[in-house]
Amino acid sequence: MTADRSPGLALAVFHELLDHQGDPPPRPLQDPLSELIQTVLSQNTADVNSDRAYTSLMARFGGDWEAVAGAPVIQVADAIRIGGLADIKAARIQSILHEIKDRLGELDLSFLHDASLDDGRTFLRSLGGVGPKTAACVLLFACGKPALPVDTHVHRVSLRLGLVPPKATAERAHELLEALIPADLVYAFHMLLIRHGREICKASRPRCEQCSAAALCLFPDKTSSAAPGARSRHRTTAEART
Ligand code: SF4
Repeated sequence: MTADRSPGLALAVFHELLDHQGDPPPRPLQDPLSELIQTVLSQNTADVNSDRAYTSLMARFGGDWEAVAGAPVIQVADAIRIGGLADIKAARIQSILHEIKDRLGELDLSFLHDASLDDGRTFLRSLGGVGPKTAACVLLFACGKPALPVDTHVHRVSLRLGLVPPKATAERAHELLEALIPADLVYAFHMLLIRHGREICKASRPRCEQCSAAALCLFPDKTSSAAPGARSRHRTTAEART
């Protein structure tokens, strides 16, 4: 079956998930550099572990990024060891800090607040170890820009729902999804998809019988059809895809 991607479908999914979950809670803003380091710590790591690593790093260095950049790498690694991949991430963090200092003359990414989305993304992606998801996290969570991070949950849910083509990589999905959703809904859309992926549209066995978006979903291995009445309460798949 060929999925038809359209803003109508994305909006229909958005409203189904919003009806079910309610408004996502706002996320406290922090400065872009701190967000960048925190996001690097979250790469390939469960949130609970990366949060512990970031807390430990802040406790050890007091949020002084100059001190982190100048410390022996083993000290940085020890500070974040609780999060896993400590040696790799310590080196990556120091490399990023050194690169920013070399290019900007200071460890401060506040200019991103005033940069365009494209310019901000281009700068962040030019840093070693910063991929599309990390860049989008910084731009969305620290700068409030309409960048949509595609993590494993957002990617999986988007593929199953047919919001992106069947073989779209997570990297490609960033631009495809951003084009489908109005800028002022990007934050909520991201948060709704993540929670949906964690709680309902799970990787190994999606709970389709509990899915508020089941009537819109083209995933061939749905574990059951939509709940009775779902199609009468909501727009049909065909309507949403126009
Ligand atoms: S119907 Fe199932 S596969 Fe489709 S989005 Fe819902 S939980 Fe995921």
